[in-house]
Amino acid sequence: MPKKKAQPNGFYFFMKEVKDEEEAKGIRHDMVSIQSIAGPRWQLLSPEDKSYYNQMAKDHKAIAKNDKEHKYTSLGTSIAQVDSQERERQEREQLMINTIHNDCSIELEALKRKPFYLCHVNYQYKVPNTDDVTFYAPCEIALIEFTLNDGITNELNMIVDAGPLPMGFRGECNEWAKDTHGIYHSSRDNKTKLNDMVFVYSSIVKFLKKETNSSGRSMLPPIYTMRDSLNHHYSLSAVESCMTFLCNASRSPRNLFRIFKLPNLFHKLMEIFDPTGAVGFTLAVLEGQIQQDKFGYAEGIACDYHTEIDRTQFCSLSMVKRWMFTITDFVCKRANVAMVAGKHLPSTADIDQWENVESKRSQKSAKEQKGWITEKFQELEIDDDEAGDEELNRAERMIPPRNTKAVRTPAPSVGVWTIAGRGRGNPM
Ligand SMILES: [Zn+2]
Repeated sequence: MPKKKAQPNGFYFFMKEVKDEEEAKGIRHDMVSIQSIAGPRWQLLSPEDKSYYNQMAKDHKAIAKNDKEHKYTSLGTSIAQVDSQERERQEREQLMINTIHNDCSIELEALKRKPFYLCHVNYQYKVPNTDDVTFYAPCEIALIEFTLNDGITNELNMIVDAGPLPMGFRGECNEWAKDTHGIYHSSRDNKTKLNDMVFVYSSIVKFLKKETNSSGRSMLPPIYTMRDSLNHHYSLSAVESCMTFLCNASRSPRNLFRIFKLPNLFHKLMEIFDPTGAVGFTLAVLEGQIQQDKFGYAEGIACDYHTEIDRTQFCSLSMVKRWMFTITDFVCKRANVAMVAGKHLPSTADIDQWENVESKRSQKSAKEQKGWITEKFQELEIDDDEAGDEELNRAERMIPPRNTKAVRTPAPSVGVWTIAGRGRGNPM
């Protein structure tokens, strides 16, 4: 049996204090000599003074009892370490919430002009690296800049080659490319990709317009993306990994880029522009709205590469634009911003038709509107008795009109960006 470690008593804490005092005077003692100095002084202490130090010893014992330092989870990580990771995660989450709150706490007109940045990264393969953090090898990086007033104001898309494939990863890499983005890692294709990571890094830094925070420090604006989700090919981890990779490649500080969750921004904007209605729009509901991807089949928003290989749905550039369309679709009308096709919505969207549907909706009673909110997130039932309602329902689901010829008329119906022959707009 290992020898039980002695618990420090009240005298120990008194002795430590004496040692600190002596050292402050410039006199150094070892534990034996300090004991001979502190001993007689301890004897002279009043019972109250002694009990003060004895209480310190009791507190220490209680803390030690709760000390999880030597307890381990089934994975061999100490519980204390897990706790500290969890605390760190919570602190980061809180910092994000506070930053979004502060960034959006400006005059409404200024908020409508404020640029926000969205990012999606497609990756080739993922592998745990030495720091026990997963490395995602980026192959496509897309960013857009948007404001509520002007919709998309700038875009950046890069197909990159992050270096040679590690041994044994070819199969996984090809499978993932086949199932998703269609960007293969082959030496022939790689010649056409960007492989200078310093250039890629500086392109992103140049793209993000620096802003000055409340304490006057100039910094890069946050980059918003979606949480990890295999079903939707979104990955916050991939964006974080990619940005760290680029920072390392260009020897820049790792915390230069701040990666935030897009639904939190969406939620904040709804809270600001629809303070009464936002109750039903919880963070989860709004995240679900982006995931529903109702602009999934919008045309003309993907990069050239993905347009050519006909994989537009998986294109990083197309994805970030679709996320923004969902946000502007919800927020702009509440912020009294007129939407422009090609800026706030896909260029093929008919704004007049869209707004017709919107005004029909606004004519509905508050009670019915509440119903619509619930309806919108569930499977809708078409009420054939009311043509207006059907039109509304169809718009919500992005279903092409039953008379497909109507799509080719000069004033196309709502939902025209659902490509004929590709089925319904909702890919879920
Ligand atoms: Zn693309």
